[in-house]
Amino acid sequence: MKACLGLHGVGVSRGVAIGQAYVIQRNQCRVRERHLPASQIEAEVVRFEEALGRARQQLWAVRDDLPPHTPIDIASFIDTHLLMLDDRVIARDPVELIRARHCNAEWALKTQRDALVKVFDAMDDPYLRTRKDDIDHVVCLIMRLLQGEGESRPGSLAGRIIIADDLSPADTVTMQNEGVAAFVTEYGGPTSHTTILARSLGIPAIVGLHNLMRYIEDGEALIVDGDLGVVIANFDERGRSLYQQKQRNALRHRQALEGLAQQPAVSRDGISVSLLANIELKEDIKATTQVAAKGVGLYRTEFLFMNRNRLPDEEEQYEAYVNVVRKLDGAPLTIRTLDLGADKTLTSERREAPRGVMATNPALGLRAIRLCLRDQALFKTQLRAILRASAEGPVNLMLPMITSLQEIGQAISLIEQAKLELLSEGQAFDHALPVGAMIEVPAAALSAHVFARHLDFLSIGTNDLTQYTLAADRLDNMLDYLYQQLHPAVLRLIDMTLKAGRKAGIPVAMCGEMAGEPRYTRLLLGLGLREFSMQPAMVPEIKRVIQEVEIEPLTRRVRRALSLPSSIEVEQFVDRLNRG
Ligand code: PEP
Ligand code: MG
Repeated sequence: MKACLGLHGVGVSRGVAIGQAYVIQRNQCRVRERHLPASQIEAEVVRFEEALGRARQQLWAVRDDLPPHTPIDIASFIDTHLLMLDDRVIARDPVELIRARHCNAEWALKTQRDALVKVFDAMDDPYLRTRKDDIDHVVCLIMRLLQGEGESRPGSLAGRIIIADDLSPADTVTMQNEGVAAFVTEYGGPTSHTTILARSLGIPAIVGLHNLMRYIEDGEALIVDGDLGVVIANFDERGRSLYQQKQRNALRHRQALEGLAQQPAVSRDGISVSLLANIELKEDIKATTQVAAKGVGLYRTEFLFMNRNRLPDEEEQYEAYVNVVRKLDGAPLTIRTLDLGADKTLTSERREAPRGVMATNPALGLRAIRLCLRDQALFKTQLRAILRASAEGPVNLMLPMITSLQEIGQAISLIEQAKLELLSEGQAFDHALPVGAMIEVPAAALSAHVFARHLDFLSIGTNDLTQYTLAADRLDNMLDYLYQQLHPAVLRLIDMTLKAGRKAGIPVAMCGEMAGEPRYTRLLLGLGLREFSMQPAMVPEIKRVIQEVEIEPLTRRVRRALSLPSSIEVEQFVDRLNRG
């Protein structure tokens, strides 16, 4: 028997799977140039165009048949690929190459792919640089069809563990429809489509496992541990039964958490904590009510604006917002105004306008409130829609990426203008609509005591606060070592914000990913956080921690964390805190 083999990657979707490997070689299209006689050129063009047509059909079939709760990002990835299939660089330029060089379609496509990738590689913008993955996915799909593959697959994928260098969104959707047990890929990161889909379906997934294909053979038995990011091969019966036990424990744990839904989030010493949900689309409200969250602490409205050709008008926005208000049935809804820019871009048509969205350094550019204050018509339309929705239930309005008091002043004055307009039109709205700001820029945390005097609430966005405090791009996995939410500097900024809120007598929530991480719950409770907003699925886990602790003693212990010199020491402190 071969020695047991453990390979480490990044666990992006939790859980354990045991099954047979299904190895897929996708992005390595081996192609040779063939010189064709003049008489065969037009037939080769037809062959290429037919493959293109079948590629379109395949993608449309997947697009039309997406399972009901597929995240919107997946549909938009597929839409992008469909658009690319009609773009001249993919649809026409290879045809010209076939005619000019008298070469085979595969070679023309590969030559065109290499030229495009070179252009993308030379781009400064990291977002555009990553678009070369999309080119590869589309090119590989056409290539497979040219080479007569991809129409059918031997055997069923049910219960199989997919091992691939990379997977296109369409492949990921098709495979999950067939009931795969886990995904493991050489490339990809925490925000790739495989990750997004696997997480939304609760399928274990590991990405970034370099050289994986060298070690795993098709059909081989594997264990995938999505919690630890480990793939195990050549295991014995003891290893198998250990992991089967882990699977059973996880199932029991999930069932126990489900039982918590109707219980209150109150600590052992009687302190009540508010657990809210983050949503991106009105459809997410279902998951929110399932876990009995006490409302929505962050509605990311930009998702209503992305990947479409026409921006939503006031009526469409009002419908979306009021729909959520009604479904929440009296529970509070915090609507965040548009946070576009940086990695969240508009449709291709709108990319040129408003100016600056694709600036050289988009994360530090015209993003979120900055964009809204510049394109006031866009902002005002949203403000009117939010105000109108507030007539039907408790709504809070939250401004993203606030950096200066001047921005708060300008935003409040636009809100007042929108109110006056609605008043003169006889439209109903909540005249006392609470207005708050996200604290996600270090300058905002340092100025929280000033901002708090002009606002009704604050909410800490730790995803961006960490990125901007440590100058480490949240999407760049080369900087994982630096992107530390427990960096003492981040912790101090959180503490300052909480203190500023207490002093001003206004609530401070947290809606970044940190709020939904059970490992940090005791620390945050000790710092004084009483409002946590997170992915709905995390609500029961966080509630369980709250029910287990006494908050008063935590408050005393946690003070020490603020004087620790490094992330490592804070991590160790948190481990001790969690052990009790
Ligand atoms: C954050 O930055 O923590 C946050 C919640 O906002 P987003 O992740 O949408 O940027
Ligand atoms: Mg943010």
